[in-house]
Amino acid sequence: MKFENPYAIFGREFACECGRTHRVAPREVLYAPAAALRAPEFCARAAKGRRAAAVMDLRTRRVAGEAVCDALSRAGWTVQVIVVPDPAPEHSPVCDDLTRDRIAAEMGPVDLAVSVGGGVMTDLVRWVTFERKIPFVSVATAASMNGYASASIAGTVKGVKCLIYAHAPDAVLADPQTLRDAPFELTASGLGDVLAKPISTADWRFNHMVLGDYYCPLSVGIVADIEPLYIERPEGIRARAPEAMEALFQACLLTGVAMNIADTSAPASGGEHMISHVLDMMCAVYGGEHDMHGRQVGVGTILSAELYRRVLAVESPVFVEPASSTDRAFWGPLHDEVEPHYQGKVERLRLAAERLAEGGTWDHVRRTLAPMLRRPETLRDCLAHAGAAYRAEDIGCTPDRLKRALLHGHEIRSRITILDLARLVGVMPAAADEVIEQWAS
Ligand SMILES: [Zn+2]
Ligand SMILES: [Zn+2]
Repeated sequence: MKFENPYAIFGREFACECGRTHRVAPREVLYAPAAALRAPEFCARAAKGRRAAAVMDLRTRRVAGEAVCDALSRAGWTVQVIVVPDPAPEHSPVCDDLTRDRIAAEMGPVDLAVSVGGGVMTDLVRWVTFERKIPFVSVATAASMNGYASASIAGTVKGVKCLIYAHAPDAVLADPQTLRDAPFELTASGLGDVLAKPISTADWRFNHMVLGDYYCPLSVGIVADIEPLYIERPEGIRARAPEAMEALFQACLLTGVAMNIADTSAPASGGEHMISHVLDMMCAVYGGEHDMHGRQVGVGTILSAELYRRVLAVESPVFVEPASSTDRAFWGPLHDEVEPHYQGKVERLRLAAERLAEGGTWDHVRRTLAPMLRRPETLRDCLAHAGAAYRAEDIGCTPDRLKRALLHGHEIRSRITILDLARLVGVMPAAADEVIEQWAS
């Protein structure tokens, strides 16, 4: 399936070669100057009535929130403005159950909500509107992550980070100038998040080839045409050049779409994301603060690419029996939360090892995955030249802390990633010190 341009996929329904019929949400995307002022027409197509709640934080209110509210009021909408306060000075709001409950309590009877902001605002509004069964429209203020078009929420419930299935916005609106003017670390974070695609895709393909998991080639190739616009021209991101910024924003949207149509985060979240999630979770156990999602994912992507290089270089692997449980001492109070995820995978790991040992399978895996991947040098140079985070110190952690995340990333999800595969063939944990030394210090 080919579309005439990257926006043409939105709102389409089609039979895919993967065997499923995909219905692509959001229905509409507008990337144009003064996009916020056109919110009323998109809201009118999404909602039955004319009562809207506009949800923003103190920063996004200035950037686009006021414009959205004015435009809606002028178009005859009743608008309730909800400004989510900062939880502490210098700390912007987070996406957790407490903030969700506060917004839900404040929000009056409305027909639709508009989120104005990046990942946190979008996810909070996604959450509240999903529970209320009303549509929402997303006004994006930064190309900071791939969640705009997505249906899932990265939220914290009772202190534990979860992926919660909800719904995609009806429309996504973005003003190129607003994205350009966003704090650069947000843009750099978006770059880290979409750079993960080759790794997560290879991880997914591995699960498909060896264990027969569902796999959709369209979800895999969805950013193939635009990827070179930022991977090969990172200076464009650094300079916030229009072409590079639009490619990045499209990639943020389309990697979200890939997850929606595949009904799993697998096409855009592999081993590199696990490293970032563990860094987040370590804060609950060891204190400290984590960095932005995409910045950590970018660093995790380089490490994962290096693991892939080492794994695929192994010619005749001797498969190692997977560990039967997770590291209780490392996880401390989170152990009971983590352990069931890993238990869901132990059998799959054994089965994978068995199948890989069958004649010819390993070579087939090597031949198939190698061309899907990017070299760690390419990824590092891309992040470095774009002015994004690429070393441990850039994401505010010591090489040792990053190494511990690398060593425990395989324990938190039931999906097999490069972090598992590296253990199956005996590359990890032995290579951890070297990989960190080589790529993150
Ligand atoms: Zn991500
Ligand atoms: Zn498909």
